[in-house]
Amino acid sequence: MPSATSTTSALVDLKGLLPEQLRALAIDLGEPAYRGDQLFTWIQQQGECSLAAMTNLPKRFREGLMAAGASVSHLQLLERRDSATGMAVKFLFEAEAGQIESVLIVDGDRRTACLSSQVGCALDCKFCATGRMGFKRNLGAGQIVDQLLQLHAAAAEHGDRVTNIVMMGMGEPLLNYDEVTQALRIIRHGDGPTAGPAVGGRRITISTAGYLPGILRLTEDDLNVGLAISLNATTDAIRERLMPINRKWPIADLLRAARGYFERKGRRVTFEYVLMDGVTDSDEDATRLAVLTRSLPCKINIIPYNELGASPGVEAVAFEDFRRPPKSRIEAFVRRLRESTGHTVTLRESRGSDIGAACGQLYRQQETRTREQPASVGVAG
Ligand code: SF4
Repeated sequence: MPSATSTTSALVDLKGLLPEQLRALAIDLGEPAYRGDQLFTWIQQQGECSLAAMTNLPKRFREGLMAAGASVSHLQLLERRDSATGMAVKFLFEAEAGQIESVLIVDGDRRTACLSSQVGCALDCKFCATGRMGFKRNLGAGQIVDQLLQLHAAAAEHGDRVTNIVMMGMGEPLLNYDEVTQALRIIRHGDGPTAGPAVGGRRITISTAGYLPGILRLTEDDLNVGLAISLNATTDAIRERLMPINRKWPIADLLRAARGYFERKGRRVTFEYVLMDGVTDSDEDATRLAVLTRSLPCKINIIPYNELGASPGVEAVAFEDFRRPPKSRIEAFVRRLRESTGHTVTLRESRGSDIGAACGQLYRQQETRTREQPASVGVAG
């Protein structure tokens, strides 16, 4: 059974447990199994984080849980930014030993929650603000679920609910495999009286920078979710410069793993490709990308680089010389790719550039402001 505890804490986080695990916990404490279902409902449906407030549970059970070190995680919200366009809301949470970000993206009827899996990240991709932070720690399953519950609540302000999830926030999700997959199992749980947040596996995507052992493990896992691979280059030389992980698992390995995922799960992998002016946006890149993926059932997502400092109020951060290509180049790249492959090629524009919606940006701005303030002045709540 997956871990019931946060990776850095000996305490049991009840938000990170499935109904069957809560039932087993109830039985361990001398209660009938259905008390576990009641707990799940309180936590995942009612959003309750205080055991004391769960008044239909016997006092002895609640006291037993507390004595056993059980708690219900709730990330403290430090800052929330709503995009002027209404297309994105970004959240900065305190998460022990650091801060994490989550984004709610609005697109037609879709409400997509982009969730973090780690505080910081060890993979050091050269175009990524989170990579600059380094790795701090893994999030527990309950903290991943809690991001979703808080974004659900924000969507509910407009009568909406989260419809899709992408594990594409801070961190490499496949390097925190057990906690991420446990969280997604909880999130998928939508049946009957113990319904959870209930986003189906077809609407959940794990995005990886190319951690091959994790891809292979997910391929064999009975958890059926979408897989996105952040490719971002068409030669190993360029990819190594952008993403050091490529030295260990080069492009050919990832393409093979993507094929294996499709064959095992029947799901086309999505390749994410960030377009950077003069780095990844040439006609030759478009042609190579088409050749690399031509025989592979896949989708391609083109993402023009989101320049830090490109928007009013967002501080400039130098990231080598990465720049967003001009509009004509972006369009030419996408056109060439569409003409030379039968793949679905989508162009994903950032929906929150005015709120620092690229990975790690809000954290960096918050960190800069905090450093500039006297120690006694807290951050925005
Ligand atoms: S892009 Fe993703 S994997 Fe790469 S450093 Fe940033 S958070 Fe980590």
